[in-house]
Amino acid sequence: MKQVRDAFPIFRHHPELVYLDSAATAHKPDAVIDALSQFYAKDYATVHRAIYRSSMRATELYHEARETVRRFINADSVDEVVFTRNTTESIHLVSRTFDLKRGDEVLLSELEHHSNLVPWQMLAQEKGIVLKWIKVLDNGALDLSLPFSEKTKLVAITHVSNVTGTVTPIQEIVREARRVGAAVLVDGAQAAPHMSVDVQALDIDFYAFSGHKCYGPTGIGVLYGKRERLMAMPPLQGGGAMVDRVDFEKSTYQEPPLRFEAGTPMVGSAIGLMAALHFLLSVGLNRAAEWEHRLLSIATNRLESIDGCRIIGTAPGKGPIVTFTIDGVHPLDLAAWLDCQNIAIRTGHLCAQPLLRRFGCEAAARASFAVYNTEEDVERFIQAVQKGAGEILISR
Ligand code: PMP
Repeated sequence: MKQVRDAFPIFRHHPELVYLDSAATAHKPDAVIDALSQFYAKDYATVHRAIYRSSMRATELYHEARETVRRFINADSVDEVVFTRNTTESIHLVSRTFDLKRGDEVLLSELEHHSNLVPWQMLAQEKGIVLKWIKVLDNGALDLSLPFSEKTKLVAITHVSNVTGTVTPIQEIVREARRVGAAVLVDGAQAAPHMSVDVQALDIDFYAFSGHKCYGPTGIGVLYGKRERLMAMPPLQGGGAMVDRVDFEKSTYQEPPLRFEAGTPMVGSAIGLMAALHFLLSVGLNRAAEWEHRLLSIATNRLESIDGCRIIGTAPGKGPIVTFTIDGVHPLDLAAWLDCQNIAIRTGHLCAQPLLRRFGCEAAARASFAVYNTEEDVERFIQAVQKGAGEILISR
């Protein structure tokens, strides 16, 4: 793993940095930065429209990026891979274009990130769809008495919680959804960087994830959609690239995925994402997961031994995320203390306010692990938490 860490220039520039906020966004390896720089320096042109060579080359690379994503999630066809800006936009696209009417039920879980919650609330207000909730147990696992009904048209659920790290039982949920003919959308933002995802084996209808959490550039995300689902959805944005024939009065549209990619796409970011996914596959998702879980388990054990420390989310097999509070220590004070020691963690409501309230707090601290973290990172983090919590308690 030392070699893996060496592939990330951020640690050459900041050798003192302990970065434990990869669940928010991950740093980029040389391979991604080089791919971006090469594209802009050597191959840059627009895609789809022109017949000069550099444009054809850029189009080829853009297509290769889509094919790389297809393989990464084992989609059946590249036509099922839509490029978006991020997970948020992928979920938004489904919420705006999936056929839902007044009275239809959308099933969410209490684990959801705001990205997979607010779009559905907006739709409930505008269209009168009804939101139903899968409950969370005290250890962060889902209560599997799933409130499906004949009116359930869609389940929108996270694969891995960004707060508790819970890995949700997608196959079980899909099985129940099929009984009532509901579609399943999975928010894979926290799963795609850490576990291999096979959308066909999971038999889900939609899968959303962000490039920037998978060591890729910002500004690129993915929406996987089963072909028949995407075919049934109208475009969200109108403009160039998504049309077939345009007359003054009306237009016809391209088939997916282009139907959902209006305007000049983020070609460079797609190429950067391709490099990131190749990088991740070369590290090996299983090897990465094993390493990250080793760091998670050391950190969790050590945190548990700190007086007043409470860990939010202890479900078995969780993702590499540990969220915690310490009695009498405000998470923001702790994070500021850690920052002075060059240790970056995330604090606050973690974009999941209802979930934190479910666990009885408004704010918490979160450390999350990625392939470039080391045991020394964990040691420095724990020692700083111990010392920082002590100092903060004395100063109160
Ligand atoms: N869902 C989950 C579970 C997340 O952790 C995040 C990012 N924190 C998102 C959705 C949103 O991702 P993005 O900001 O890249 O759209």
